[in-house]
Amino acid sequence: MTICKSCVVLGLVFLSYMLGCVFGVLTNEQAVTYLSQYGYLKPSMKNSNVANIISEEAMVKAIREFQSFFGLNLTGRLDNDTLHLMSKPRCGNQDVGEFVPTRTRRYISHNRKWEINDLTYNIIKYPKQLDKSVIDSEIRRAFDLWSEVTPLRFTHKKSGKVNINIRFEEGKHGDRNSSYTVLSHTFNSKYVSDIYFDGSIKWSVNSKEGTNLFQRVVHELGHSLGLFHSKKESSVMFVIDRGYNPNFTLSSDDVEAIQAIYGSNNKTEKVNLEKDHDVLKNN
Ligand SMILES: [Zn+2]
Repeated sequence: MTICKSCVVLGLVFLSYMLGCVFGVLTNEQAVTYLSQYGYLKPSMKNSNVANIISEEAMVKAIREFQSFFGLNLTGRLDNDTLHLMSKPRCGNQDVGEFVPTRTRRYISHNRKWEINDLTYNIIKYPKQLDKSVIDSEIRRAFDLWSEVTPLRFTHKKSGKVNINIRFEEGKHGDRNSSYTVLSHTFNSKYVSDIYFDGSIKWSVNSKEGTNLFQRVVHELGHSLGLFHSKKESSVMFVIDRGYNPNFTLSSDDVEAIQAIYGSNNKTEKVNLEKDHDVLKNN
């Protein structure tokens, strides 16, 4: 049987398309962009034009660091598990790199600590698909979760300067990539924190449909308060969105991390951490 060259080419194109649908991140250039975006390669390598001049050694090292962060086999290759994870909806903040501490036991930054316990926030821009009152309520719940275990208090101010600005923006807002979904990210400066959510995706409340709003807000507030990404899937600071969990709450690691920065309050003992761990383990 003779197979014509164009049939082979068409077959390879189709196979690439199917793999692209499954894994999202496919090409070497896209992987380079991803790895530099999240701190595994130098930021100067973010430009896909330089993908072909990165040494194999640097690429293998970066891939192994990514695989180590997510507990994958350290193959140093863009294998299926690695590509699959790269295609998952995630937070836009870095996992490792020059701005992320490596020597602290926990994923915290004392440099980020707010110097006051009474903080204000405003929701500058709302998404279209949910009522404002629902958004307000879910965001309030997320702040309350961090308040329960720290001395921090948060007040919603609808005008004037605030400490934490929250926006739902459609389209490109800093780090969107066509190969995977960046759900949200947080920029911190000394006096203000800006949290962005993708306003074009379907946000949900108490439902497996779409992306759960409450869980993402808790994660981004963690960044605003000084936490980085955790390697543990049970942590609310895990990079990849884990899907809706009706029992979602802070893990014991999250509580210890935030209390290492701000201390505790008297209500901390009421948080049933062991129960939380069991729920996460079973999901
Ligand atoms: Zn994050």
